[in-house]
Amino acid sequence: MRVFLKKGRERPVLNGHPWIFSGAIEKTEEDSGSTAIADVFDSRGNWLARGLYNPKSQIRVRILTWEKEEIDSFFFCRRLSQAAALREKFLPPSTNSYRVVNGEGDLLPGLVVDRYSDFLVCQFFTAGIDKLKGAGVDALSSLFKPRGIYERSEGGVRDEEELPPSVGVLVGEEPPELVRIEENQISFLVDVRKGQKTGFFLDQRDNRTLLSSLARDMTILNCFAYTGGFAAYALKAGAKRVISVESSRPALELARESFDLNGFSVAEQDLVRADAFSYLKSCTEEFDIVVLDPPALARKRGDVAAAAGSYKFLNLHALRLLKPGGLLFTFCCSQHLSLDLFQKIVFGAAVDASRRVQLLKRLGHPPDHPVSLHHPEGEYLKGFLLSVLE
Ligand code: SAH
Repeated sequence: MRVFLKKGRERPVLNGHPWIFSGAIEKTEEDSGSTAIADVFDSRGNWLARGLYNPKSQIRVRILTWEKEEIDSFFFCRRLSQAAALREKFLPPSTNSYRVVNGEGDLLPGLVVDRYSDFLVCQFFTAGIDKLKGAGVDALSSLFKPRGIYERSEGGVRDEEELPPSVGVLVGEEPPELVRIEENQISFLVDVRKGQKTGFFLDQRDNRTLLSSLARDMTILNCFAYTGGFAAYALKAGAKRVISVESSRPALELARESFDLNGFSVAEQDLVRADAFSYLKSCTEEFDIVVLDPPALARKRGDVAAAAGSYKFLNLHALRLLKPGGLLFTFCCSQHLSLDLFQKIVFGAAVDASRRVQLLKRLGHPPDHPVSLHHPEGEYLKGFLLSVLE
């Protein structure tokens, strides 16, 4: 089918932005009323790009290519090879789990693929990419030859596009209940079938590494701990004590199993099942380092104001608990809340906590979660490493 843009609306497409909103479209031709591959033209009829058209989404077209190429398994093979070459450059050989495809960041809008040891876990988030599942899976199989490919297409944009969840084995073996992975010479057990997202927060790898470089002999509070990623790095680096606070019981149980697997001894009372908001508010201990890695508190644009209050609360209480010279790793993974606003929120928290705070480093995604410079919307993870002066 063909999509024609309104006069003067071709600039973002020419500049490489992968999304075309409904308001930029003048007319369509051969539109069957359902998801399809579409050629995009400017108002004068010049061919611009090829992408996935979805009449039900406000993002009417997600561009796959700016070249006249067939969208088939060879197309996926080319994109995947490029993605694999990037990971090869950056990832240490001891790390066998990482993001293989990061949606728009790898020029494959709507597709996320994570590797956990010998298994791949895929998320097809949009109706468009869902339709190309066969070609995508063929390419993943032939290129990576995994033991199995498992699908975890659920939640997020899929709900917005009214696509039902799709979960299960796509190719090969079903992953075991727990997959053992290696990340920077630390072992973790990952529940790729029922764990959060695809099972593990691979996007925090480099920030965990940074924590480990600072953790020796430190007393650390790890809030929103999930399966103990930050905690394990700190323990390996010789932290004196790490308290992990997390609301999910299965996540804490997995943290315990992973600590045991690595031989880290952690007291039962240092794995705290609690609401991190109340824990932080009532805590009276002091720490050398606090890690705050909450889930996305603003899932929609409309949630940003309320979420800002929650982020401020968390950061205020975390700053209050730090010793002079103490460090705060604070994160926000809400896509709709900008880095600029997050910094202002944390500043407000510092003022209200009566602490003087230095910004040491801005934190974000590792290179296996590339963000397209042409699609800044893809940059969801932002964080700061802060130091409390007094
Ligand atoms: N830091 C983790 C990832 C954190 S994801 C890592 O590196 O692996 C956010 C976590 O916060 C999830 O595990 C979720 O279960 C937990 N969570 C959500 N709301 C919470 C709350 N109110 N109190 C404590 N934990 C919460």
